[in-house]
Amino acid sequence: MAKTLLDKVWEAHTVRELPSGQTQLFIGLHLIHEVTSPQAFQMMREQGLKMAFPDRTVATVDHIIPTDTRQRPYADTQAEGMMSAIERNCREFGIRFFDVASGHQGIVHVLGPELGLTQPGLTIACGDSHTSTHGAFGTVAFGIGTSQVRDVLASQCLAIQKPKVRRIRVDGRLGKGVYAKDVILHIIRLLGVKGGVGYAYEYAGEVFDRMSMEERMTVCNMSIEGGARCGYINPDDTTFEYLRGRPFAPAGEAFDRAVSWWRAMASDPDASFDEETYIDGAQIAPTVTWGINPGQAIGVDEAIPAPQSFAPDEREVANDAYEYMELAPGKPIRGTRIDVAFIGSCTNGRISDLREAAKVAKLGKVAAHVKALVVPGSQEVAQEAEAEGLDQVFRDAGFEWRLPGCSMCLAMNPDKLQGRQICASSSNRNFKGRQGSPTGRTLLMSPAMVAAAAIAGEVTDIRDLLPQ
Ligand code: SF4
Repeated sequence: MAKTLLDKVWEAHTVRELPSGQTQLFIGLHLIHEVTSPQAFQMMREQGLKMAFPDRTVATVDHIIPTDTRQRPYADTQAEGMMSAIERNCREFGIRFFDVASGHQGIVHVLGPELGLTQPGLTIACGDSHTSTHGAFGTVAFGIGTSQVRDVLASQCLAIQKPKVRRIRVDGRLGKGVYAKDVILHIIRLLGVKGGVGYAYEYAGEVFDRMSMEERMTVCNMSIEGGARCGYINPDDTTFEYLRGRPFAPAGEAFDRAVSWWRAMASDPDASFDEETYIDGAQIAPTVTWGINPGQAIGVDEAIPAPQSFAPDEREVANDAYEYMELAPGKPIRGTRIDVAFIGSCTNGRISDLREAAKVAKLGKVAAHVKALVVPGSQEVAQEAEAEGLDQVFRDAGFEWRLPGCSMCLAMNPDKLQGRQICASSSNRNFKGRQGSPTGRTLLMSPAMVAAAAIAGEVTDIRDLLPQ
């Protein structure tokens, strides 16, 4: 019988079916960071548990790390405590830790792929919602809670319900100034933030076939924002070429053998899906959120939708969004004045994102009233960008060039919005208070659009700036 990638990966990792109807699933790769792991290690100690497979867990530090200094101890004692805890836990439990001194520190979902740890056909878990990023490689990857982190540390397994699969095909050609971020914001706009509940999203079609691995990561990263348990793209030659030569990817003949297996894990051409959605890529515009969830998004040339355009069960959150954002229905999103511009995060903090944003940064100077930050996703991204002179391009334009980390995506470090500031952000969540101020406001968009907004001082249409 024809199978999807989800079926194949699930079967390959099933230890047994549980009486609850869940599957005991073996986890091929476990990624941890400083925020969701300390309690899990504490539980391990209290229960006298040992690591089942220490070499299948990899650690880094990303959420709390300051981006303006690496000076220890950190000024924030809670951050210093989390950093000390992960150092101690990795030492005591024998876990490989990519800390600042390693030269590979970065956001957990940037580091895994760039080291070649993320490989097709794997199951991947991490105590972080955006673990779906790794699905870009044809993995089944999902975020887990702290007690599940403990379960994976102790048993390398999870008790989990197999999701259904919705295939989302996007065919045709994307227009000028339309990036992977716009594609996924458009998908979430169409299907809603709960459209994926109970599903894995399989992204297919010409648009994803043509995307680079970094663009595919941007798309899969935000699957969770559409409610999906995970999202994936079938592995192909683009995937294999990305992995070739990476530190943890197989080498020589082992690489060729791995490619045969990886290729075989892709969904069969005649596989059937629980749901299918078709989208014409040519219809997607540069997209911006106007509200308080990523589904509240519109093309940059559209006006903020009227309450009547929402289904009755969505009107309450729409009304909440108008009030919180102080954006009225019928008002164009273009021209909305911004205070802060943030380029970074596990959605859009990779080298190709910085290259696209730098092309725009070359066109002008950051508006006088805007604070603009560029935060590379990892030390490797930073090194590559600096070797290409992108740091200087950003500095010359008036952006601050920071050290790698999650930064203002979640603002668990000192990079925070103040008061009612509005931030044009390349991150993935525009929830109330997400960027560090309980009343701060976030407009999600592509990194190139953030750079354009930084220069204009307001939301602007990137298509007007790019050459014809
Ligand atoms: S960049 Fe943001 S979404 Fe990604 S792991 Fe860090 S805090 Fe989470």
